[in-house]
Amino acid sequence: MAFLVKKFGGTSVGSADRIKQVAKLLQNAKQSGDDLVVVVSAMSGETNRLVALAREMMPAVVDVRELDVLLATGEQVTIALLCMALKELGCDARSYTGAQVKILTDNSHSKARILSIDKEPILEDINQGRIVVVAGFQGVDESGDITTLGRGGSDTSAVALAAALECDECQIFTDVDGVYTTDPRVESRARRLERITFEEMLEMASLGSKVLQIRAVEFAGKYNVPLRVLSTFTPGDGTLITYDNEDSSMEQALVSGIAFNRDEAQITVAGVADKPGIAYQILGPIADLNVEVDVILQNIGENGLTDFTFTVHRDDFQKIMDFLHSRQSELGAASIIGNDRIVKLSLVGVGMRSHAGIASRMFKTLSEAGINLRMITTSEIKISVVIDENYLELGVRALHEEFDLAEENNNTVVSQ
Ligand code: ASP
Ligand code: MG
Repeated sequence: MAFLVKKFGGTSVGSADRIKQVAKLLQNAKQSGDDLVVVVSAMSGETNRLVALAREMMPAVVDVRELDVLLATGEQVTIALLCMALKELGCDARSYTGAQVKILTDNSHSKARILSIDKEPILEDINQGRIVVVAGFQGVDESGDITTLGRGGSDTSAVALAAALECDECQIFTDVDGVYTTDPRVESRARRLERITFEEMLEMASLGSKVLQIRAVEFAGKYNVPLRVLSTFTPGDGTLITYDNEDSSMEQALVSGIAFNRDEAQITVAGVADKPGIAYQILGPIADLNVEVDVILQNIGENGLTDFTFTVHRDDFQKIMDFLHSRQSELGAASIIGNDRIVKLSLVGVGMRSHAGIASRMFKTLSEAGINLRMITTSEIKISVVIDENYLELGVRALHEEFDLAEENNNTVVSQ
């Protein structure tokens, strides 16, 4: 018997039949003795449809207050339908909008932050034996206006509820059955991970394994809410995301997974003066354009000159190339060189913290595959390389093989 938050994404509630299927799943869980708070997204495609309608009314700048009033309707539909389906099965259930629960947020419409949750009414219902169904993605600000939490925000609603209610686990049901060692579309031998740490998940998510909203993972880590990703459609244990319990002698993977990001582009500002302020002169105005810079590398200067290389999202590539060319003489740069056919490949694992030699194994493997490394960056639990996009699949497979990621319990170390 456990107290759980179960969250179902858009595809899981994408049709009347699917909503009925979710209701059955919940009925089974309830019958096995669990107390349930359920969070749902809008039916798949619905939020996009509403955004498009809003744009038709206000093509230039959409009024964010009204947009939130509109977008919040998507989830209001699914909470009501799910409760109807549950009642039809004989389960007592009650739906709540964000404002009713009271999920209090700040007033930044379309990207609101949760400030507090009124848990008493929910606990009251739970004590009465009801299943509580809450609309994801929405809240209410101090003045009573409806707010939304940003796209994919239902994950955050679920984690916040689990934290406030001190639930045993927050379970995110989706269309994949867990977090994998890498993308199975690239390496068919990719294996579902039974567990992964919050830190690793953040690295995997921000590097392109987009199973969960990053903010939700951060939130879960901050409030220590065990998070589980599992499939609505295929039964299984999914992947549990928790803290790395360093005190236990639990087996710990040296490398947990390989993440990659296809959306990067590389830009070099070559032959600029090697003097204080040059990084700021190049990158400051780019930040002002609201463009995110990822990997940054500056060379050792020679003859008073240095080269500066960084990566940006591919969508921003042309804009930044044009911008830098327009400032080339002001920066005194010899040339601006760009390449938007590169990708970033990363090896992630908390085991790296205590074990040396992983980077050299990675470089050896990639060199044996004939892959040229354009840039390298490392953090405590991650090594990333920037390579030519044509070598992505080859690189992922070679590393998957080298670190025995297809094999469970292989390649693990016992943490001391
Ligand atoms: N319905 C919202 C969206 O599509 C929130 C969510 O699904 O998490 O982004
Ligand atoms: Mg989602």
